[in-house]
Amino acid sequence: MFGLGLRYARQMALGEIGQEGSLKIRAASVLVVGMGGIGSPIADLFARAGVGRLGLVDGDRVDVTNLHRQILFGMNDLGKNKADAAAEALRSVNPEVRIDSWPINLGKENATELLSGWDIIMDGTDNFSARRIINSFCVLNRIPWVFSSSVGTVAQVKAIIPGKTSCLSCFLKENHVDGPSCQEFGVLASSPIMAGSLAWSIAVQIISGKEPSGDLLMLDPWNQEFSRIEIKRNPSCPACSSL
Ligand SMILES: [Zn+2]
Repeated sequence: MFGLGLRYARQMALGEIGQEGSLKIRAASVLVVGMGGIGSPIADLFARAGVGRLGLVDGDRVDVTNLHRQILFGMNDLGKNKADAAAEALRSVNPEVRIDSWPINLGKENATELLSGWDIIMDGTDNFSARRIINSFCVLNRIPWVFSSSVGTVAQVKAIIPGKTSCLSCFLKENHVDGPSCQEFGVLASSPIMAGSLAWSIAVQIISGKEPSGDLLMLDPWNQEFSRIEIKRNPSCPACSSL
C-alpha cells in the first residue's frame, strides 16, 4: 500500500491491476492529444486511476454543442480552452496527479516538443492528419499509442505498439481522407465515451506490462454490434517496416 491511499483500494483489489499495476500507473506519464468526446473520458479515467503525469493538448474552445458528450465540461467552461478547462476539472478530481495542459493543436511544427518524453500517447483527435503525425513520431521513437475515432453511432479503437503490432500506416492508404465529421454526421454520445473507456483499458494493459492485441476494435452501441478485425503488420509499410 506504500504510496497509494484508499482512493485506489478498489483498483488495487482488482486482480488484473492490483497494487503492482497501480504503482506502474503511478509511475507512468500519459499524453492525451485532443480533449473532445474521446479525450475527455480517457483523461478522466487516468486522473482517477492515479497516473503520475497527465498531459492534455487541445487548441479548441468549449462550445455548447460539445456538452452532450464531452463529459469533463459544463456551462461554466463555455469559451474556455478545452485543455486548460479539462486540467482544471481533473485537478479537483485528483490533486495527486501532475497535470500539464497545452492550449494548442498538434501540428508538424510542434510534434517533437509535444510528443517527446511520454510513456504512452492517446489519440483523442478528430482527424487523420494529426493521427499520421502521432503515428510517425511514435513509430520512430518506439512509443506505444492508442488510436481512437468515433462518428455517428460507431467507434474504432486500436493499440499501436511499434515493432510488435501493425501501425496506422500498415492499413491506412497514403491518400486516405477524413470521412464525415461529427458536425456533419452527428454522434451518439455513448460511442466516443465507450471508445475512450476501451482505449484507456488498453493503455492500462500496456502500462501494466501486458501486450494487448493490435486488432482494430469496432463498437456500435446503438446497434449493439461489436467486432474485431486482425490487422497484420504490412511488410512494405512506409512507417514501420524497418522496425
Ligand atoms: Zn506500419
